[in-house]
Amino acid sequence: MKAGDAGKRHMTRVVAKFGGTSVGSPERIRHSASLIKAASDAGEQPVVVVSAMAGETDRILGLAGEFSAGLGDRECDVALAAGEQVSAALMALALRDLGLEARSIMGWQAPVITKGPFGGASIDGMDVEVFEALMAQGIIPVLAGYQGIDTDAQIQTLGRGGTDLSAAALAAALKARCDIYTDVDGVYTTDPRLVPEAQRLDAVSHDEMLELAAQGAKVLQPRSVEFAKAHQVPMRVLSSFAEPGKAEGTDIVAEPRIAERRLVSGVAYARDQARVALLGTDDCGDIAQKSFSALAQGQIGVDMIVQTHSRTPGVVNLEFSVAHKDLAAARERLEEALGETEIRWETGLAKVSVVGAGLRQRADIARSLFSVLGERNIEIKVLSTSEIKISALVENNAVERAVRALHAAYGLDQI
Ligand code: ADP
Ligand code: ASP
Ligand code: MG
Repeated sequence: MKAGDAGKRHMTRVVAKFGGTSVGSPERIRHSASLIKAASDAGEQPVVVVSAMAGETDRILGLAGEFSAGLGDRECDVALAAGEQVSAALMALALRDLGLEARSIMGWQAPVITKGPFGGASIDGMDVEVFEALMAQGIIPVLAGYQGIDTDAQIQTLGRGGTDLSAAALAAALKARCDIYTDVDGVYTTDPRLVPEAQRLDAVSHDEMLELAAQGAKVLQPRSVEFAKAHQVPMRVLSSFAEPGKAEGTDIVAEPRIAERRLVSGVAYARDQARVALLGTDDCGDIAQKSFSALAQGQIGVDMIVQTHSRTPGVVNLEFSVAHKDLAAARERLEEALGETEIRWETGLAKVSVVGAGLRQRADIARSLFSVLGERNIEIKVLSTSEIKISALVENNAVERAVRALHAAYGLDQI
């Protein structure tokens, strides 16, 4: 063992992930690099994961769209992966300018092993040998996020926001803490860009964060939270705009002693949802079974499922919501799978969700949600509840009012 190795073994490892805005220009990359230098100067051992520069993924998607390719197409993933390739190299250069040694690593070089569909692959494993070797030499690895390679040597991307997942998976493999640097200074009670009264949470539980993310709070990708929970990765969200050493942020924790005391932790929203209603005679759950398997085959996410039996014996009404972008594909698959069943659609909707571990003890919350929205003449199209969440489908143009009203009604304007 070389002198100094024993000391290094005890250094705190930190995977620092920088999102699109945090690497959006040479200036932002320089500033983000200075945060890594500060961590390194403070005796931590940083490993960096970067997103593509802000706007780049949309730009590449637009270009692929010119050739009728979208998410899910092999060539689209090859093009998309280039976004993170550029920012990883630039970040390594910025670190070098600060006197640190750094090296960029593409998903296929590590390799980060992926499986599942193009445009939405999941991480199946990761070889961290190259990271260990670089760190042992004092070189900072910079992984290009959002990408990996499958067992057929195909480049794949991990779905929008997927660099969060790259970071969580790398932190798990390296037994490191995972710092998610972004353009807000933590997780708020709702999107601070929509509601100026939103408050930053010091801590939020994995389960609450997972629900908030799944219901549209894009500050973290849902699968990254799932991964952090399953592998007990300490994760926090903080601002890359803070001065070195000054960021506070939000801890994503397993046991939220503080959070448990709150009834509601946050309000999330997702615009551009559609409601689908299926009306037909049901033979032992036949409609549900046929439609959900047809949608699953098309990788179409289904949410807010409600089934009601009509007064006519055997007739059921099955309703659910899908993202508007999936509507055409959903329609095609349902028509093919269901034949005679009547299918109705409603578009221009949004989903508003109230999330909180405290909801477990409060069965009356659905009633209060009805009255808060009802008083403001906001019609609830569909309501669904789960253990720590209540979601309502409302008109797209009422979503901001609904979020603000619920945020105030559940005491989140001042916590
Ligand atoms: P990055 O590019 O760093 O990955 P994202 O744009 O994916 O950043 O996520 C950060 C954005 O998430 C913020 O700018 C904010 O508008 C939005 N957001 C939505 N809900 C929340 C919330 N509850 N707390 C914090 N940010 C939120
Ligand atoms: N660049 C990808 C996106 O815009 C991945 C990410 O930023 O996490 O979705
Ligand atoms: Mg993101």
